[in-house]
Amino acid sequence: MILNRIVVFAVIAFFIVIAAIYLLFISGKTGQYSDFEDYIFGTYIRIRISSKVNPATISKAIFTEMKRLEKKFDAYSEGSILYNINNSEDWVKVDDETLSIIDLSLRLARNTEGAFDPGIGRLVNLWGFSKFSQKEATSEFTIPSVDKIGEAATQSGYQKIAIDYVNKKVKANGVWIDLGGILKGYALKRAYQIAKELDKSCHGFIEAGGQIMILGPKYNKTNWVIGVRDPRGEPGENIAIVYMSEGSIATSGDYERFFIVDNVRYHHILDPKTGYPARKAISATIISEDPVVADAFSTAAFVLGEDKWLFTRTVFPKYGAEVLLVTPQKKLLRTDKFSIYERADR
Ligand code: ADP
Ligand code: MG
Repeated sequence: MILNRIVVFAVIAFFIVIAAIYLLFISGKTGQYSDFEDYIFGTYIRIRISSKVNPATISKAIFTEMKRLEKKFDAYSEGSILYNINNSEDWVKVDDETLSIIDLSLRLARNTEGAFDPGIGRLVNLWGFSKFSQKEATSEFTIPSVDKIGEAATQSGYQKIAIDYVNKKVKANGVWIDLGGILKGYALKRAYQIAKELDKSCHGFIEAGGQIMILGPKYNKTNWVIGVRDPRGEPGENIAIVYMSEGSIATSGDYERFFIVDNVRYHHILDPKTGYPARKAISATIISEDPVVADAFSTAAFVLGEDKWLFTRTVFPKYGAEVLLVTPQKKLLRTDKFSIYERADR
């Protein structure tokens, strides 16, 4: 009996030692962080997290929430709330979340004088950028005719979207609402809230196709070092390095979803004033506390480009957005406080 017990204990102890060595090996490779990945919003979502709560539980909750948002706010899929609003000639009753995200998108449109325009769906669809998938976006492309662009442009514009706050209704009045320019930012905001509800002291970051939301400083003490990609370089080649321990950074570039015809690049960020892809910048990066602001304003800064830089550098910081703009000639333009984030000794 006693011998049997000793053998059982010895076997258990052996497995515990093996498990401990394995864990040491794993943590030796990734520090104290765990990594998770999923494909949502047509892009890879990566979570690097350290938490006293099971990191897999937190990541799963985040991915589930993001998939809910993807389904609910994909304007071009039958059955989504935006699809219903866009295809109705009448007022559509909406839930609180939908009302507030549409309201927020209209506010961001006003703040950027329409450079960020959630009422641009018909143009996005006409150009073929309505699919979340990048692959679909790069294969089967033709340039729409001038007439078709003009027609879609007359049925676009955030000013036409109406909200009835009392009865909780939205009316698109012929335009198609597209929240693609803030959805990832909103999803990152929700992800942050979920992570902090499950563990206030968790740290790490979440990356969603060109945008990062920081959960907390690296090892809870130092800045994360983040590269801003060279819009004409290979992945991994950077034009700037920033140091951040909180908040969000988002880059909008013409290299994300595009096709090239006769040496001209047609990409997924449209200038609402022309109906064509915006041409006055090749990338725009925003640092902000708020990931929704970072997302919407990066799209807007890209559209405003070099020509409207004076507006951008004057107005954007008032909404808590610091900007790094890369002009078509690859000149770098920065708002005053952006360079603070580029100092390694912060
Ligand atoms: P990415 O998705 O590459 O991060 P953005 O955040 O800039 O890029 O969002 C681009 C998406 O936003 C497009 O795919 C389209 O759905 C939508 N969009 C395009 N142009 C505009 C615009 N001027 N204002 C608002 N949304 C836009
Ligand atoms: Mg954006």
